Amino acid sequence: MAKIVVVGGNFAGLTSALELKRKLGQGHQVIMITKSPVFLFIPSLIWVPFGEREIKDITVALEPIAKKGGVELVVAEVSQVFPDENKLITNKGEYAYDYLVMATGPELAFDQIEGLGPKGNVSYIGTPNGAMETRKRWQEFVKNPGPAVIGAAQAAGCAGAAYEFLFNFEQQCRAAGIRNKVNITWLTPEPFLGHFGIGGIAGGEQMLKGFMKLLNIHYITEAEIEKVGSDTIELKGGTVLPYQFAMIMPAFIGADVVRKSPGLGNEKGYIPVDDTYQHKHYPNIFAVGIAADYPIPFKTRVPMGMPKTGYPADESAKTAAENIVRLIHGQTTLKERPMGKIPGLCIMDAGKKEVIILSDSLLKPRKFAVMLPNPIYDVSKRMFEKYFLWKVRKGYSWLP
Ligand SMILES: Cc1cc2nc3c(=O)[nH]c(=O)nc-3n(C[C@H](O)[C@H](O)[C@H](O)COP(=O)(O)OP(=O)(O)OC[C@H]3O[C@@H](n4cnc5c(N)ncnc54)[C@H](O)[C@@H]3O)c2cc1C
Repeated sequence: MAKIVVVGGNFAGLTSALELKRKLGQGHQVIMITKSPVFLFIPSLIWVPFGEREIKDITVALEPIAKKGGVELVVAEVSQVFPDENKLITNKGEYAYDYLVMATGPELAFDQIEGLGPKGNVSYIGTPNGAMETRKRWQEFVKNPGPAVIGAAQAAGCAGAAYEFLFNFEQQCRAAGIRNKVNITWLTPEPFLGHFGIGGIAGGEQMLKGFMKLLNIHYITEAEIEKVGSDTIELKGGTVLPYQFAMIMPAFIGADVVRKSPGLGNEKGYIPVDDTYQHKHYPNIFAVGIAADYPIPFKTRVPMGMPKTGYPADESAKTAAENIVRLIHGQTTLKERPMGKIPGLCIMDAGKKEVIILSDSLLKPRKFAVMLPNPIYDVSKRMFEKYFLWKVRKGYSWLP
């Protein structure tokens, strides 16, 4: 009997654990260790500050899903992995494993910029607490509007989500009747609008420039934030932007546990894997989703992170699960699914507008890539949210 431990219980971790158990059946043990007892649909956090979603609307308890799928759930924090000893330590005890899947997502590198972080005045929407704090600040801002700065810091892991928040914020300012009092500036490390950390999509830059002009949003590309103050953001080069409201997507680094486990990851806390998601040095360890290191094949003047979004997280998890099953069954040929070649499938909600991005491959070279704008309404991401939460509740991990 093989014992497989999956660390992480969100997009990549939940899919890995359920797929492993579904494919292996009885006779093998799958344990999912996660510090959160719920699945959180992170993409919908952009709507929480405006009261369009409550946290309870976008979370699902893991216990019944794990039980139905035959996965043993342990709600605990893993503090260290010992890859040479095939064991890990949690605040609820030690676990040995035959195979390990790391799906621990990112940590937020607020400390890379002076003044950025939860103690300052700049908001971050990517966690439940951050989104609720942003809601309070938004409600204050509506009573006392002024300049706003929205953007992504250098090396930000998910510039696309910051774009979504920007357009939702602009639309909410109009709905609240304060738009004429709000000067909005968009800050981005991208060399051009619509690069998104994936090298851009044909027509994307023109489309986003059109949106910025139409909505009267100022923008600064190749922006590098030097320092954040209580009411100003200072850029390298000397530009100082005053703000009454600001939301900045910070850089991502790998999880603490990876950085505290010698031999497991690189200096940024990401785990080096090959195209099968198998660790480059430990064949019984796999890393999926954001936890996996994926070298970015392009250079930008201001550093950018590659967005390892929900779809590649899910696909990497399925590939790793399939490969562990093959190894357990004595096979030596593993399935390859390079992250940069996974099809791009992304819906950018833009507040009563949306853009659907489709490509045969996340990174270039691509055979096709299209951005389909819908300037009239934004229904696709809301439908996608409903579909994904239904899939999670049912435990249908094999579905896309
Ligand atoms: C604001 C925002 C909006 C986004 N919008 C979109 C979108 O529209 N579409 C899209 O495709 N993607 C979007 N993304 C990206 C998407 O959220 C990620 O791709 C996805 O969450 C990655 O999944 P993951 O499982 O790798 O990591 P995560 O979802 O971060 O999961 C990490 C898991 O590891 C657990 N964990 C971490 N450390 C430990 C530890 N030491 N011990 C135990 N458990 C641990 C956590 O509890 C969690 O369960 C967005 C991201 C943000 C921040």
